[in-house]
Amino acid sequence: MAIEKTFSIIKPDAVERGLIAEILKMITDSGLKIKGMKMIHMDRAKAEGFYAVHKERPFFGELVDYMISGPVVVSCLEGENAIENYRKLMGATNPANAEEGTIRAAYGIDIQNNSCHGSDGPDTAKTEVAYFFNDDELVG
Ligand code: GDP
Ligand code: MG
Repeated sequence: MAIEKTFSIIKPDAVERGLIAEILKMITDSGLKIKGMKMIHMDRAKAEGFYAVHKERPFFGELVDYMISGPVVVSCLEGENAIENYRKLMGATNPANAEEGTIRAAYGIDIQNNSCHGSDGPDTAKTEVAYFFNDDELVG
């Protein structure tokens, strides 16, 4: 299987509750390597651009408000089959449906405040990493 990069966000609900270290430990324990990482507080335009694919959905406004409600930790992760493996580690979008052992089962609050984001495919992974990181901010 190929070595891939994917993009992760530790979302405001998790940062606010002091869960950065716990979630990063789950990520690195799963074998994913951190290639770039920073804490940022997105403005509205940045968050709207990131979630542009959802702009017609009824929850878009709420989602953007939430994503700019506090700081987040963005990272670029790398590993074998990283995109799918990280989606599995996150669990279902709604924490109520997330399997035991996943980040969202452990820490997610509800379908919006679900603690983490992960790219859903190779194209989005590439776009999302580039949306937050310059090449010189990624190691190796
Ligand atoms: P993901 O790929 O598992 O993160 O899920 P989606 O791409 O479908 O949705 C993006 C994000 O929007 C989710 O992670 C949630 O934070 C939020 N979200 C998804 N569905 C809903 C919903 O029905 N209501 C609200 N308020 N937020 C939602
Ligand atoms: Mg998604």
